[in-house]
Amino acid sequence: MDISYIINQLGEEREEYYNSVAPPLIQTSNFAFKTVAKFRQAIGDEKEAYIYTRGNNPTVDILSKKLAALEGAEEALIFASGIGAISSAIISGLSAGDHVVCIEKPYSWTNKLLNTLLSRFQIETTMIDGTDFNNFETAVKENTKLIYLESPNSLTFELQDIERVAKFAKSKGIRTIIDNSYCTPLAQSPIELGIDIVVHSASKYLGGHSDLVAGVLCSSKKIIDKIFYNEYMTLGAIISPFNAWLMLRSIRTLQLRVEKSAASTLELVKYLKTHEKIEKVIYPFSEEHPQFDLAKKQMKQETGMFSILLKTDDISKVEQFCDQLKYFLIACSWGGHESLVFPVGAFESNPDAENLPVNLVRLYIGLEEPKVLIDDLKQALDGI
Ligand SMILES: *Cc1c(COP(=O)(O)O)cnc(C)c1O
Repeated sequence: MDISYIINQLGEEREEYYNSVAPPLIQTSNFAFKTVAKFRQAIGDEKEAYIYTRGNNPTVDILSKKLAALEGAEEALIFASGIGAISSAIISGLSAGDHVVCIEKPYSWTNKLLNTLLSRFQIETTMIDGTDFNNFETAVKENTKLIYLESPNSLTFELQDIERVAKFAKSKGIRTIIDNSYCTPLAQSPIELGIDIVVHSASKYLGGHSDLVAGVLCSSKKIIDKIFYNEYMTLGAIISPFNAWLMLRSIRTLQLRVEKSAASTLELVKYLKTHEKIEKVIYPFSEEHPQFDLAKKQMKQETGMFSILLKTDDISKVEQFCDQLKYFLIACSWGGHESLVFPVGAFESNPDAENLPVNLVRLYIGLEEPKVLIDDLKQALDGI
């Protein structure tokens, strides 16, 4: 199915709603039935029927069809946040006594879920350096039920060989989950590479305008059926119809936004690589990245976020650099219209900052003109 069809047509039954081009926002909690018999029949099929918006809602439904197709998955569920989707995905495959292998430095709240929350329920996690495939083989035990990946991760941009890990996991009967937020469904298709469940923070590129928080979980119908009647309905981290409607609006321009952000990023990376005040640029599509070849092999296109190491270990210089930027907003998150700077290494109290050098600064490139952003970086670097 071509991307244009998915984005512009799939799931939209316009005759059902006055031939309106924009999909309807069905902002309702429940749905009424003409007869008890019809109600009874619907209750028997909560995943398909419209009964109550914690289960299924027509606006959310249109969105989930599009996101499943974009990921090349049979089905998708949409959540109130990325971590809502991640939590449901992880919990769905685990019971007390099980073991998880997770790449080191995953998204901070994923780390917290595995190593603080689930450890209270006798689930043990081994964190490994996922850049070396041998570490997966070494870490797996008799009771390993899940391998959790994030390729690349969103602070230091290490990759895993997705196809190889997926194949190994399958041979051992271990489920695999990947956080594909950095790539979006456009730049990487993990299901094609053999991964069981793909999760996204849709608060980033998929939302794209810094005005919604949401998550996505894509998988086979079999796995989604099970998650729907268990984690999805019981933990209840569902998206509101309004946020689903906003995201439908957003994905109309997903390709344009990601392409612009990535094209500008290539220019900025090129500029920063040769700057005397920069020690290193960490970006998967930079030739100096130790996994550049793997990035080219398993990623379909570039996206727009990277980190830099400033040539200083003075935290006040790092802060001064960020404070002097005029176009880059100082903020967490990413994927919106606006460029951002996050001096993550300078946040000693932040769990994200553990073991990260103080001069590590993450940059997300938005939709401003690259020339303007380069000038902004230049004046901020000149000033330190
Ligand atoms: C932001 C983010 C998350 C969490 O998503 P929320 O929508 O904030 O819950 C998970 N993974 C990655 C890579 C992220 O950047």
